[in-house]
Amino acid sequence: MLNVKKNLAVVCQNRKLPFIFEEAEKLGIEITFFYNSEECAPASLPAVKYSVALPLFSDEDEALKTMEDQYKLHPFDGIITLFEPALNFASKAARKLKIPYLSENVIENCRNKNLTRRIMHEHGLNTPTFIELREEEIPEKASLKFPLVVKPTNGFSSQGIIRVDDYENLVEAIKKVWEINHKELGKFVYGKGGVILESFIDGPEFAIETLSSNGVVTVLSVGDKGDCKGPYFEEGIYISPANIDNELRQNICDEVRRVVLALGITEGPAHVELRIDSNKKPYVIEVAPRIGGSGISHFIVKASTGINFLQLAMRQALNMPQPELPDHVLSQHTAGNYIIPLQGDGIFKEIEGITEVNEMKETKRIFQFIEPGTKILPYPHFSGYPGFILTQHDNHQECVKFHEYLDKNLSVVYQ
Ligand code: ADP
Ligand code: CA
Repeated sequence: MLNVKKNLAVVCQNRKLPFIFEEAEKLGIEITFFYNSEECAPASLPAVKYSVALPLFSDEDEALKTMEDQYKLHPFDGIITLFEPALNFASKAARKLKIPYLSENVIENCRNKNLTRRIMHEHGLNTPTFIELREEEIPEKASLKFPLVVKPTNGFSSQGIIRVDDYENLVEAIKKVWEINHKELGKFVYGKGGVILESFIDGPEFAIETLSSNGVVTVLSVGDKGDCKGPYFEEGIYISPANIDNELRQNICDEVRRVVLALGITEGPAHVELRIDSNKKPYVIEVAPRIGGSGISHFIVKASTGINFLQLAMRQALNMPQPELPDHVLSQHTAGNYIIPLQGDGIFKEIEGITEVNEMKETKRIFQFIEPGTKILPYPHFSGYPGFILTQHDNHQECVKFHEYLDKNLSVVYQ
């Protein structure tokens, strides 16, 4: 009998973060890579057998048709995406081709922050107070309790997320977020852009990676995400496992499992962001039904626990046999992602000190994203991250020390 390799459709992928291609190759599967037609065709990538351009954000019907044509010619066995704005499309395409995937409702439950909040509230889960504003609507001063966070209903990458401490700043922030909705986010939100106002949860932030299977949610990792106070929320560090006691870890895991299921993520990976308040009560901020950070979450899970997150998710998407997961996942190492801070704005030149960091034994990978000469805008706009430094350490303290070294020794140079 012919041993035909399974083929997985990957919809959009930041090619500078190639974990998905590398792990697919190691798993012995092939990929049909559906990339955004606004980008150039990929050069050779591991495991990629076919590359197909899709007008994902300019002509969705055409994109669906192209994908269907490709399927008829060279069928694939599953669909996956790690790119937030492509989730709805992946779900639609899967339904059309009768391939198992989370429903469009579930995707929308996660992507629309107002819907996420409503569902959490209905299920009695911890949620900050929230309201959705209509265009031009400015809420009454008397009804508000500061600090508040203003955000786009369907945003991502912290674009347009602004903390405000008083009414004057609130009015200004609301205007700014509408502007970001119409401009930067416009093509990704298909007219679904609203503005949300919610109370600011003041306490440390955590990122949690989960995998659901048959309605059972396994927590693979709980990591520290710092304690950013705003007013803008540029991504910073990610260290897993988090430096917290077992009781808090358990409370976080329980709340996360409830939220993931309440939103309908009964299958597949999820990336959850959560903050605790001064009473250590966990509040989920956001849930994404995918592997986080275009594959960074895979690195974090694998380098801390040894579990191959991407391979598990790909096996699941392809309906391949799954290895059994323990009830309580243990970590052997500490994994870190250091997001090189923008340290300003202007015309990007280079990152000083990066060659030395590359040679250190803790450094597993370095990814750089910004080409010299690129114009960088200040937050709350989002021009991309200068780079990620992925590391592995014996314990949490070592990772913190390493990050302190990076704080001191890396500098972004603008022209
Ligand atoms: P995005 O989808 O753009 O990532 P999020 O809702 O996840 O938007 O917000 C981005 C970041 O802003 C969060 O990771 C968190 O640090 C901060 N943030 C958002 N909402 C709140 C809130 N209600 N309280 C405290 N911090 C918040
Ligand atoms: Ca987020």
